[in-house]
Amino acid sequence: MSTYKTQGIVIKRSHFGESSLILSVYTKDYGKVEAVARSARKVHGKLKGHLELFLLSDFIFAYGKNIDKIANSYSLDNFENLRNNLNISFGAYYILELTDRITEQGFRNERLYYLLKDTMNFLDSLSQEDALKYYLAIIQYQINAIQLSGFFPEMNECTICQEKIKLEENYFSFYHGGIIQKKCLHSDKDAVAIDNDVIKIMRLLYIDKGEINEYRGNIKNNIKIINKLKVKKKLIFQLLKLMNKFIENNIERKINGIDFLGVV
Ligand SMILES: [Zn+2]
Repeated sequence: MSTYKTQGIVIKRSHFGESSLILSVYTKDYGKVEAVARSARKVHGKLKGHLELFLLSDFIFAYGKNIDKIANSYSLDNFENLRNNLNISFGAYYILELTDRITEQGFRNERLYYLLKDTMNFLDSLSQEDALKYYLAIIQYQINAIQLSGFFPEMNECTICQEKIKLEENYFSFYHGGIIQKKCLHSDKDAVAIDNDVIKIMRLLYIDKGEINEYRGNIKNNIKIINKLKVKKKLIFQLLKLMNKFIENNIERKINGIDFLGVV
């Protein structure tokens, strides 16, 4: 049996047949892997308990004809605090669903793996009182995960006329995929007003690509920024909803987890 080994986070889990599971795992070395875990739901199945959603585990996959198989798995971190805190776990669910929606099998993306893992670690460190940090962590994941997946809103130049965006009166066009100035509003009547502080937060949390170590350093830096940032909840919600709608428009699907985040 030909196998491969890697580390990954379970991002989706569905029942298959009477006692098996199909899992999507976002892995460090192979990107998204979908694999079946035979008999995983049997009481004495050897994989039982190692294949829950959110778990960070070491996996051994076996190549299969139609779908790969989970040959073995050993959990490394179960993000216990996050798992026991309902509100924070909704954020993690959203992040996992988003990851599943924007990725396809067969594309390795180590930066996305670390972005996911480090964001989950940060969520795991939060308490119930850290609501603003919690939302900002989700936003920094939205912004950077889509950047790594190849689509990103334009936020420096007007999407219509390419003039540099000044922090005056600006709008966001879902149709054109970025910020537009007031004078270009005629090209998209459905564009929505965007607060300048929202543009600033987007720019602040955006990580440009770099070597993997540098990239991880930038995630840590983002977390420092999040820990210090003082922003009104209203603006945080504006940005989170805007990013979610931008992503949904691009992938042409709804992300169900948005309904559980308590974003108004
Ligand atoms: Zn313009």
